[in-house]
Amino acid sequence: MRRPLLNHRLAGLGTTIFAEMSALAVTTGSINLGQGFPDSDGPAEIARAAAEAVISGRGNQYPPGPGIPELRGAIAEHQRRFYGLEYDPGTEVLVTAGATEAIAATLLALVEPGDEVIAFEPYYDSYAACIAMTGGVRVPVTLRPPRFRPDLDELRAAITPRTRLILLNSPHNPTGCVFTRAELATLAALVCERDLLVVTDEVYEHIVFDGEHVPIVTMPGMRERTVSISSAGKTFSFTGWKIGWVMATPELVAAVRTVKQFLTYVSGGPFQYAIAQALRLPDHYYAGLRDGLLRKRDLLCSGLATAGFDVYEPGGTYFITTDVGPLGEKDGVEFCRALPGRCGVVAIPNSVFYDDAQVGRSQVRFAFCKRDEVLEDAAARLARLRG
Ligand code: PMP
Ligand code: GLN
Repeated sequence: MRRPLLNHRLAGLGTTIFAEMSALAVTTGSINLGQGFPDSDGPAEIARAAAEAVISGRGNQYPPGPGIPELRGAIAEHQRRFYGLEYDPGTEVLVTAGATEAIAATLLALVEPGDEVIAFEPYYDSYAACIAMTGGVRVPVTLRPPRFRPDLDELRAAITPRTRLILLNSPHNPTGCVFTRAELATLAALVCERDLLVVTDEVYEHIVFDGEHVPIVTMPGMRERTVSISSAGKTFSFTGWKIGWVMATPELVAAVRTVKQFLTYVSGGPFQYAIAQALRLPDHYYAGLRDGLLRKRDLLCSGLATAGFDVYEPGGTYFITTDVGPLGEKDGVEFCRALPGRCGVVAIPNSVFYDDAQVGRSQVRFAFCKRDEVLEDAAARLARLRG
């Protein structure tokens, strides 16, 4: 018999749920509250900066491997401005093709086959795929409704002598959970005690409604053990530009860079200039992003509650996790496949983000990074589900 084409580590991964559901939205003409991308672009001045970079020939040829100095400087400045953190833009910052490449390169750099990687589930889909590419073993620690707080005793119990690192995501996609300072302090103490590394995905750092975003690297002992990852897609509403970055010690960055140079080498030259400018936007830009999304969160939460869903209000991100149980539904995948036909809306079943799909079987995620009138229209359509 012929051997399967896809190597066994990646068998079963198939097409991402985001691609599947966005395609379904297009073929059915539905409102797409599935894949998380804004339906309005970011600031016009930043779009113009990218266009001008192309026209004036800045970044049209391979930019430097670690990223253009202007952007690395702006990233270091951003960390100082928002968190009081110091990074050397020369040795401690690496520009990547979105957070997606940063996650892949970091895991490929740090994980040996057989190493265990702990992640809080439900987890963002690329985590499982990247851990699989490394030959590592993923170990889930489950966040449970209604509040999705991390159970740190469960985390402690999940650590073994084979644990290499904890892959953290706060604010958390898809639950909207924002880890508190106290939770992060306990987690950091555990990481230091057990001599682990942390890889932290903070792409929603500026989309926090309740509490504050605390980078775990600010905790005692963590500067040496943390690879921090973020990206421009969510913060500036240009998800197609794929400018991300890694921040860590020179040794960790060198390890990640070794992998990154053979994945893409470099990417997004002209966009790097534009994002350097975007990171320096005044405080009111960042406040406006958050306030606008807070209003949208409340709009869609109330629409979903009226339609009969159990709604888990998110503390951050632009996603709302719901439970479809009160609508008489058991299975989120079936529900999401039928939803376009029933009322012209697309959503994402959270079960695909769990190792044990049963645990999240009745959870469904809705994105609210859409124009108010689109959210109002979606709410009116969803209200039809009550019959
Ligand atoms: N991490 C999380 C938690 C995400 O939701 C996303 C989705 N965009 C990414 C990483 C990927 O970010 P990027 O588009 O910058 O690659
Ligand atoms: N981060 C986006 C989401 O969670 C999807 C990005 C993608 O499709 N890879 O919806």
